[in-house]
Amino acid sequence: MDYLEEFPILIIDDELHSDTAEGRASREIVKELKAEDFPVIEALTARDGIHAFLSHPHVSCIIIDWELAPEAADGMLTAADVITLIRERNPKVPIFLNTEKLAITAIPLSVISRIDGYIWKLEDTPAFIAGHIKRAAKNYLADVLPPFFQGLMDYVEEYKYSWHTPGHMGGVAFLKSAAGRIFYNFFGENALRADLSVSVPELGSLLKHSGVVGEAERMAAEVFGADRTYFVTGGTSAANKIVWLGTVTPGDVVLVDRNCHKSVMHAIIMTGAVPVYLIPARNEYGIIGPIHSHEFRPEVIREKIRACPLVEDPALQTARLAVITNSTYDGICYSKELIEKQLRDLVPYLHFDEAWFAYARFHPLYAGRFGMHARDEAGPTVFATQSTHKVLAAFSQGSMLHVRHGRGPVDHSRFNEAFMMFTSTSPQYTIIASLDVAARMMAGHSGKFLIEEAIEEAVVFRKKMVMLAEEIRASPLPEENYWWFTVWQPDCIMDPGADDRFLRNHADCWLLDPHDTWHGFDGIVEGYAMLDPIKVTILTPGIRPGGGMEDRGIPAGIVTKYLRKSGIVVEKTGYYSFLILFTLGITKGKSGTLLAELFRFKALYDRNSPLEEVFPDLVQEHPARYAGLGLYDLCQEMHGYLKDEAVTELVRAVYAALPEPAMTPAEAYRHLVRGEVAAVPASAIEGRTVAVMVVPYPPGIPVIMPGERCGPATRAIVDLLTSLQEFDALFPGFESEVHGVDIIAEDGQRVYYIYCVEE
Ligand SMILES: *Cc1c(COP(=O)(O)O)cnc(C)c1O
Repeated sequence: MDYLEEFPILIIDDELHSDTAEGRASREIVKELKAEDFPVIEALTARDGIHAFLSHPHVSCIIIDWELAPEAADGMLTAADVITLIRERNPKVPIFLNTEKLAITAIPLSVISRIDGYIWKLEDTPAFIAGHIKRAAKNYLADVLPPFFQGLMDYVEEYKYSWHTPGHMGGVAFLKSAAGRIFYNFFGENALRADLSVSVPELGSLLKHSGVVGEAERMAAEVFGADRTYFVTGGTSAANKIVWLGTVTPGDVVLVDRNCHKSVMHAIIMTGAVPVYLIPARNEYGIIGPIHSHEFRPEVIREKIRACPLVEDPALQTARLAVITNSTYDGICYSKELIEKQLRDLVPYLHFDEAWFAYARFHPLYAGRFGMHARDEAGPTVFATQSTHKVLAAFSQGSMLHVRHGRGPVDHSRFNEAFMMFTSTSPQYTIIASLDVAARMMAGHSGKFLIEEAIEEAVVFRKKMVMLAEEIRASPLPEENYWWFTVWQPDCIMDPGADDRFLRNHADCWLLDPHDTWHGFDGIVEGYAMLDPIKVTILTPGIRPGGGMEDRGIPAGIVTKYLRKSGIVVEKTGYYSFLILFTLGITKGKSGTLLAELFRFKALYDRNSPLEEVFPDLVQEHPARYAGLGLYDLCQEMHGYLKDEAVTELVRAVYAALPEPAMTPAEAYRHLVRGEVAAVPASAIEGRTVAVMVVPYPPGIPVIMPGERCGPATRAIVDLLTSLQEFDALFPGFESEVHGVDIIAEDGQRVYYIYCVEE
């Protein structure tokens, strides 16, 4: 291992700089370690030591002076307190107590049991002690690595001359051209040498789950609480299809969250399943809520199945599988127990699409709200598919599929046929290694503290936003400038009794309580849905609490366009809301930049600054449309349009009634492939069977699925699409994003065309 110099050794000792025998002895140790190229971090007080540890979680060894003098300014922290804190976060990093042999009788068992050894500072020689520390640090680092990544590194270090695929042979092929050399230099030698192929037997096989890959998957299963875990290198897009192809066959009835990802729709097509939809709620801000809990009632589901014209045998009244998006994109997470209880007898397989929720298991705040929670062997077999890369630390496409066995059989060797169907025979080994490391990072207590940090930052931001609103209201501004952005969140965030720690640890604070009005959803059942604090939805002015449009408004698309210009890319933009995410990658104070930009936006808006100044590129591209307008003017124009069109009402109506199913998605897709379709303008799709999935962003959930037909009862869908089209024409540069439509320019207008089955 030649990277020891990247892992510092932390010494916490109040006498390090003192002219005493002990101080001199400690300095000698530091000198020895430095001579061996170890970086050393010195801390002179307990608090200093804690801070140094928190900001260097990768230290390889810690030496603590047992006689550390408690200081009043530190809250009288002792060496024992420091050890407790470190051990909570890292049960394995070697800790040595620096003390005298005589003092040992006074050290309590609780400390002795948590440390790795002693340094007798006045007795052993500095060289001997340094050697001891070095060995401990090396052993620790060797053990830190998870199995696959370790194997990969060993292999890369050992075998320099490969004769197997990939054809670039450890990057060498790239060196034969200028572009290739720049590519090589950019990614670095290791990234290319670690790009190996399945012809390396030492590393096992992902397709067979053998060797160190299999070992890594088994360790991940333990960490994520699964009976079995599969590493998926094609993202949750592939993981979802694996779950379905392994459990669902043509004609099977499946219960599908209408707020589902494209990949679920692809799985419906591939399996030939008959979907019956569970409908999520929407509130007046256009935020997508949870599936109404009454939608899970067995009698409601049976009625849906009975009413579906595509079900071959409605007398069956059961379904093969149910899929729920958990948490939703907007951060609503369900009580897994309540859902499982209701679906217990209805489906043998329950699939939680947890693309955004891989961290849930690691923090008590989410207890009971994720798939791999609580076993019920007589209940459905539970799958959870997680995009490790979205919310933990892994390369893109790195995803995990977890299984917990219940009454639905999942026989590994048969299920693995589905796994192989969506796995390349040359999987990307660096993705596998990153999944291995992601699991290791969350093991033990580390996961909790990593998540805790993200929650902490999110809570601080949420509070800050409320306080800013209060400060603005108390300031001597003209009244029309009193506005500020609101955060969509429970009122209890500002309760005097709810300090940050309380908020981080009490799920009650984040529940969508049926008696509260802030969330805007009705028909919520107690304890059923919770808002995930790390997903922060910011509301822009324009919609009255309880519904109805204000006279003044700031459509969110204008705010997020402004933020993007300043390098802040938000996760999702709605009509009057946008979403930001606090994930593991968050750094302290990162939200400060966002706040600053929101303030800048407010100042520009309040002054009605010319668009030439706010969006110079936009004005340059569309001078006839935007020259001479101010930011306030633009907001009012766009708000006026959305208000006149009653877009938020329209969106609600779209989801109030689903289009009727005319054929299965698989059949519609067959027509598409055979070319038995025609591109029809969105304004003329009434009465036609649509062959594709149409998803406008916002709101980001499908308005039509393949095989569905809009009728007079679902006219709102056509109205919404034509209204979006009109919006695009009126506000160039702010065009809506609609998946599933072809946009064709006609007379300078963007017209949406949608493939419909030919009649
Ligand atoms: C992103 C996403 C997926 C697909 O995950 P990838 O890892 O990007 O393939 C599936 N489901 C949901 C709900 C998602 O948001």
